[in-house]
Amino acid sequence: MPDLDDYTQQALDHICYLSERIGPRGSCTLAERQAAEYVAEQMRTADARNVQLEPFWGAPSTYRPYLLAFAVALFGTLAVWLVRERWMMAVAAVLSALGAWGMFAESDLATSWMRRLLPRAASRNAVGVLSPTGEVKHRAVLCAHLDTHRTPVFYSSTTWYLVFTLLVGGSFVSMAVAALAYAMGALFDWSWVRWIGLVAAVPQFLAFILCFQADLTPFTAGANDNASGVGVALAVARRLAVEPLAHTEVWLALTGCEEVGAYGGAAFLDAHTAQLGPDAVHIILDEVGSGRVRYLTADGLIRKRKTHPRVLALARRAAYELPKLKMHGQVGIAYTDALVATKRGLVALTLNTLPSPLTNDNLHWHRTSDTLAHVDPDALADTHVVVWQLLQQIDHISAEGNIKQ
Ligand SMILES: [Zn+2]
Repeated sequence: MPDLDDYTQQALDHICYLSERIGPRGSCTLAERQAAEYVAEQMRTADARNVQLEPFWGAPSTYRPYLLAFAVALFGTLAVWLVRERWMMAVAAVLSALGAWGMFAESDLATSWMRRLLPRAASRNAVGVLSPTGEVKHRAVLCAHLDTHRTPVFYSSTTWYLVFTLLVGGSFVSMAVAALAYAMGALFDWSWVRWIGLVAAVPQFLAFILCFQADLTPFTAGANDNASGVGVALAVARRLAVEPLAHTEVWLALTGCEEVGAYGGAAFLDAHTAQLGPDAVHIILDEVGSGRVRYLTADGLIRKRKTHPRVLALARRAAYELPKLKMHGQVGIAYTDALVATKRGLVALTLNTLPSPLTNDNLHWHRTSDTLAHVDPDALADTHVVVWQLLQQIDHISAEGNIKQ
């Protein structure tokens, strides 16, 4: 019977294929499609049934919505200086409010006016199902995204990342403040609020420039983000073919378009939540190729949404059962595919091995250096062990909801 080393080697082989043979896998690109076809084939070799590529409409860019939000708000500020009329301040208030709303909605993966305006493009998830030996009493989903991010300058160092983080918050607050100021200006005919709008425009303009630059950069090969998650998921699938669970049906959802707003995660839930039911445990593997395994206690870019308590209890139990791994929880720094599930009240947990980019300059996150050379087999093995432990726990949940020994 294969051992952990064999499964780790399988994960590494998948990472090698995805990051080097296929290479950078931008959302909605041909390479993303090739990755989906490759993993579907691998699922079939792991005896998964109902293996399918499930098409959906995704988005080709994560930065265009933010560019649009900033552009709209900046246009309002420009307009109040060009047309010094009271009514123009009312227009600028609406435009800044639209910018703030659009930016917040996009960061929370919600539909807003921007998603209706921006172009969509075709993407697909690869989905398959692994059956247990006995009657199905539980369901789990192993999810990892196939697409890779661009390599903007603001991910290139901790200093840049800090500047970017401040600008994300600053530009959002500035649009909200400008909306309020212009509204007051229009209401009371205070023409001096234009100066508030001008100061507020500074972070918006800087964020606009950075997002514009970001959209011109090449995609990363994404060995850690997120061929690592895909590799571990496929290796676990192979193990399930050899050592199937007793009562837990395991679904594989290898998604497209996560980096641009978790469109693949949302499409998977749209298509399958009814079949999976509200109690299915969704385990999301996102960047598990370097460092110590952690689970997210909250997920999101601006608004952090708390992980479902039921799956947090499972994670804490796994940490207790695997003391050597010293696994602990942390708040996520950006969104993952778990966010769309958590927003729908579902039971979803993200595992990663990513320390804070503010304290660690050696992450290769969203950089051209995110290559196989920087993937640590030990991190893959640890993640495999944690996923296996979680699946065992789920398989042993009693009818009363307790985990049987
Ligand atoms: Zn990722």
